[in-house]
Order: sequence, then structure tokens, then C-alpha cells
Amino acid sequence: MDLNEALLTVADAVDIVLWPVALDFKRKHVEAMDDNEIAVSFINGAVRLDEQCEMVELLRRKSQLIVAFGACAHLGGIPGLGNFYSKKTIFETAYANSPSLDDSAGTLPQQRSQVPEGELTLPKFYDTVQTLDQTIDVDYYLPGCPPPPDLIQSAVEAILTGNLPEKGAVLAPAKALCDTCPRADSKPERLSVDDVRRPWEIKIDPETCFLAQGLICAGPATRTGCGETCIRANQPCRGCFGPVADAGEQGARMLSMVASILGVDGEDEMSDDQVQRLIDRIADPAGTFYRYSLPVSTLKRKRIQGLGGQE
Ligand code: SF4
Ligand code: SF4
Repeated sequence: MDLNEALLTVADAVDIVLWPVALDFKRKHVEAMDDNEIAVSFINGAVRLDEQCEMVELLRRKSQLIVAFGACAHLGGIPGLGNFYSKKTIFETAYANSPSLDDSAGTLPQQRSQVPEGELTLPKFYDTVQTLDQTIDVDYYLPGCPPPPDLIQSAVEAILTGNLPEKGAVLAPAKALCDTCPRADSKPERLSVDDVRRPWEIKIDPETCFLAQGLICAGPATRTGCGETCIRANQPCRGCFGPVADAGEQGARMLSMVASILGVDGEDEMSDDQVQRLIDRIADPAGTFYRYSLPVSTLKRKRIQGLGGQE
């Protein structure tokens, strides 16, 4: 939780009953609890395997409150970009076509395999990455990759004091990152860029708005609350806090923002060729605009029959 010594205060106030990365509790210990016995579960990660689905359903039954912790549980996160592909394509890429494979026979993982010692099993790999609230009912969201300690601390305090906002709230400020960005004063009223650049291609001015330098920054479409971490490290925002409150879809907002910039060159309209040249300069536009939020976007996929799992 990145709380440093404040973790001791939390540990004094609560009994921790499951913490897989730090303490040796097992699933059977949770199964033995009464329903609603856990006051709150913080759950990180998206859901892609049947065992993850079973575990979060179990925790939902045993918990009074569920907090989706971090970008993957909240929005699908980087693993959610897997939704641009099917399970079949992912398996073929990883297990049959990867140039670094030792076994190029195309052996794919099987849910059940017989070996001399007995049967080996693997969890079922779903075709689609789901967010936590696409799998179970979620009470609150702590955004970020990772959520910053001050927001975690506020959330824990709110839970301990019973001072929680309305169910479904994202436990972070409602403004956009641009509203709190130290470079906001240098963001021109009307943005126009003559080129789209990537961070490694230029010497980045540490004071000037990234968009004004031709670098794609997700700040206008992203909720604030992270402390402008990337901006202060002289890197554009990538959008891990998710959409601004009530602003609809983050990726569509990014797309619309970039489209409005790319249409103008100073006071003049750009020609179609100029616009196309700039669009071609955006590496992986869909992956850039939906970097953390593809599973919650309104972009839908074609259903492919016969792949098994939820689709
Ligand atoms: S676009 Fe990025 S750099 Fe510019 S003001 Fe917004 S958050 Fe700051
Ligand atoms: S600047 Fe953007 S990508 Fe970086 S931590 Fe903040 S919200 Fe996340």
C-alpha cells in the first residue's frame, strides 16, 4: 500500500485477514469466514482467469465493502489492451510465433494435462479482460498505477471513521489533471502543433505544457490526484487515473482533443495531407488513447464463436 510507517497505524486499527503478497493466509481461511465478516477488501488487478473470478466472487460474499484498487481493477489497465486481440491470437503470438520460443511446435497451454505423476491443471484463460466491476459489485474505486499513498490513507481513514462518500465514488479529486498541472499556465488557449513527437525524440522543455511541444499528454482527459507524478518527472501523462468525473469516455475525449489540435496550423486550417502526416506520427493511436481504459470503453469487439470462456 506504499504507506510506509503509516501502515503501523492501519495495522493497529484493523485485523488483516488476507494479504497474499505479504502474509500467509489461504483461500480456505476466507472460505471459512461468515458472509460479510470482512469489513473491506481492497482488490487490485483485472479479471482474466476463472480462478480470479472465483476469488473476487468469494471476497464479495465475505466483505461489507469492496474497493477496486488501482488502474487494472478500476479500468482494466495495461492488461486490458489485450482486448484488442482474441485469446486465440494471444496464445498463438506467445506460444507459437514468438521468435524467442524454445519450443516452436506451437504447444498451447492446456487446462488439463496428464503427466506420469498425475493430472496438471491450469486456470481457464478468458477471451476478454474484465474490470472488477464487470465481474462483481464494487463500492469504491481508488485510481492510479499505482494509487498514491495520500489517497490510500484518506480512503482508509474514511472507512475507519465511516465518513464515506456515495457508493460508486472514485476516491480522488473530480478535476482534470490540467487543472492542477504546474505547466497549466503555458498551455495555450488554442492549441495547434506542427508535428507530433515522442518523448525520446526531443529535448523536453521542463516548464512548458507537453501538448504545446507536440507531445501527446492525456492530462485534459484524465482525473487529477496523483500529484502530477509523471509531469514532475518531465514526462507526459499517460492517463492512469482514468476519466475525469462525468466526462464520459477517456479515450474518446483524448481522441477528440487530439483531433481538434491536428486540424489547425496557427490560424489556418490544415490540408488533408498535413493532417494525415500528423496522424501517421501518432504511434499506436488506439493504444495511446485507451492505454488504461480499453475494457470500459464503448469500443466493442466482434464476437468470435468457439473460443470458450466469457466473450
Ligand atoms: S496537457 Fe499535460 S502538460 Fe499540458 S497542462 Fe495538461 S497535464 Fe499539464
Ligand atoms: S501523470 Fe498521468 S499517468 Fe502519471 S501518475 Fe498521474 S495520472 Fe497517472
